[in-house]
Amino acid sequence: MDFFVILYSVINMDIERLLISLNKTKFRGSFHLNNKMKEYVLTKSITKIESDCYDLITKRLAPAVIPNDGKQTPMRQVHPVFIAQHATGTCCRGCLERIHHIPKNRELTKEEIDYIVKVIMTWITNEIK
Ligand SMILES: [Zn+2]
Repeated sequence: MDFFVILYSVINMDIERLLISLNKTKFRGSFHLNNKMKEYVLTKSITKIESDCYDLITKRLAPAVIPNDGKQTPMRQVHPVFIAQHATGTCCRGCLERIHHIPKNRELTKEEIDYIVKVIMTWITNEIK
């Protein structure tokens, strides 16, 4: 295995471990996709949901200043990514700072966006298994 393959699987293991511990908490663990949302993922395909995820995170989470931070992510089952955000602590910059140690009051980097999308997509993939 080359170095990057090893590095990649270490990151995946860390994400899985984080998701397991979040799932044990009362608030985060209460979020799950309903059947309609699961069907939505399967119909649209994981690739399409991932591209939606990039768009949503870039628009609603990446800017340095977000006037309604903490309230920008709907709790209703209107898009699987929103539900995943609450389950994974990536719903707002406050939670990102607390749970993922990504500081607020500055724009997210490309690497941070990639990481957040990976966390969300891992959660969604686990939900539809
Ligand atoms: Zn939040």
